[in-house]
Amino acid sequence: MKPTNPVFTGLQTTIFETMSRLAMAHGAVNLGQGFPDVDGPEDIRRVAAEALIDGPNQYPPMLGLPDLRKAVADANKRFYGLDIDWQTEVLITSGATEALADTIMALVEPGDEVILIEPLYDCYMPLVQRAGGIPVRVRVTPPSWDLDLEALGEAFTENTKAILINNPMNPAAKVFSDKELNQIANLCVQHDVFAICDEVYEHLVFDDQSHWPLMNFTGMRNRCVRIGSAGKTFSLTGWKVGYITGPAELIDPIAKAHQYVTFTTPPNLQKAVAFGLAKENDYYEGLAGDLQQKRDRMAKGLEALGFKVLPCAATYFLTCDISGLGIGEDDVSVCKKLVEEAGVAVVPVSAFYADHAPTHFVRFCFCKKDDVIDEALSRLSAYLLPETALASR
Ligand code: PMP
Ligand code: GLN
Repeated sequence: MKPTNPVFTGLQTTIFETMSRLAMAHGAVNLGQGFPDVDGPEDIRRVAAEALIDGPNQYPPMLGLPDLRKAVADANKRFYGLDIDWQTEVLITSGATEALADTIMALVEPGDEVILIEPLYDCYMPLVQRAGGIPVRVRVTPPSWDLDLEALGEAFTENTKAILINNPMNPAAKVFSDKELNQIANLCVQHDVFAICDEVYEHLVFDDQSHWPLMNFTGMRNRCVRIGSAGKTFSLTGWKVGYITGPAELIDPIAKAHQYVTFTTPPNLQKAVAFGLAKENDYYEGLAGDLQQKRDRMAKGLEALGFKVLPCAATYFLTCDISGLGIGEDDVSVCKKLVEEAGVAVVPVSAFYADHAPTHFVRFCFCKKDDVIDEALSRLSAYLLPETALASR
């Protein structure tokens, strides 16, 4: 048999799927894969349900339903002051993942260098490589996850086509500082580079901070592609509805990639997401506020158990330093023990690195019901501090 494509052949199943399978096999509380354990707003789901029954359920326009494209443009204006032409500057996709794939396919040519920031989300490397691009990695460094600006400057060359930035960032739970974003913007302008901005966690930002897109920085409006996800914004991760905002010259080839990947996205879901995006500010504030409380509940419990909890400004995730806990120093084996023996599934942060990964961090997903968080903490306590658990009986 002839060989299949080497980028995907032999590639491991994603860590998220792997941990979810293990959680199921061991009856563990699943704090691995990032998804809320309650569904998003009922009114949004009702719009989707009614549109499914009422139809039409035929191919919607390839760029997306006009109502949703208008809603995406309106949201860009409302939250970020961006003036977006809904007809030429918005594209609806089947999730942010498809948006990333379409964008990378449309912008990257074989031999182009694409700057990625480690720790990186799982699909970035294979998508860049499959497009023939050459990943050039720079890092943010724990515990503060500051971007190494010197290394960033050195990463830009005459062959750089794009930088892919995930802000707010999974799994670092970091919001990039204005200084970092300014530097990225300056380098992109100086080297004539596109920025692919994965901003799926744009509305999950805590402590009265707010997200500010790279697209708003000087010189970036026409070289940025901004990607959002209804899965994250409405706690409906299974829906896979994404949206891309960018200049018409970039949306045009990206839409051509989209037309041969999925072509369209289910129309009832698009209608419901349009309804959702128009929700009042209190919805968005409530979403971040609820998650912030969960973050605090989980962080407090983990600290009491001896975990060193890293700062978390955004997203669904808390990263903890496991060194000194006495259950092993290597994140992969600790995660294996925790799922098998403690009954709690979490994710090793080394999975977000291509090589030379730090191996003493694990990621906890906290977008769970309070009693689920408490159950996970009590299982961890029974496992890590068995004497205390016995004494309190
Ligand atoms: N980017 C990042 C950083 C993510 O964490 C995720 C996963 N939720 C995605 C993209 C994919 O989003 P979607 O489910 O809309 O494809
Ligand atoms: N983004 C989610 C995470 O980081 C997982 C999405 C997926 O499983 N593909 O956990």
